[in-house]
Amino acid sequence: MKIKGTCRHCGREFLVEQTLQNGGKCPWDGKPFQADYAVVLVDSLRDAEAAGNTLENALEKIADIKPEFVLDPESVIGQIREYLERLERAHGGS
Ligand SMILES: [Zn+2]
Repeated sequence: MKIKGTCRHCGREFLVEQTLQNGGKCPWDGKPFQADYAVVLVDSLRDAEAAGNTLENALEKIADIKPEFVLDPESVIGQIREYLERLERAHGGS
């Protein structure tokens, strides 16, 4: 999963992969995205990408074998969307 973000400092888009490689800094302006919790941030971003890949692969397999059911999309992505919206509302920095 290629998670993309936008820096609140410079407004440029970046890939999570890029910030994993530089210890949680914006690849464009070099500012830390979370100076106090850089390790937590990097670990969690890495987990999110890995878990995203696992989820995507599992759902692809399920879709491929055409089981006799449908899945409720909200039950899969509802909580995820909520956290992303919370992130969008939160004001960065501090
Ligand atoms: Zn930036």
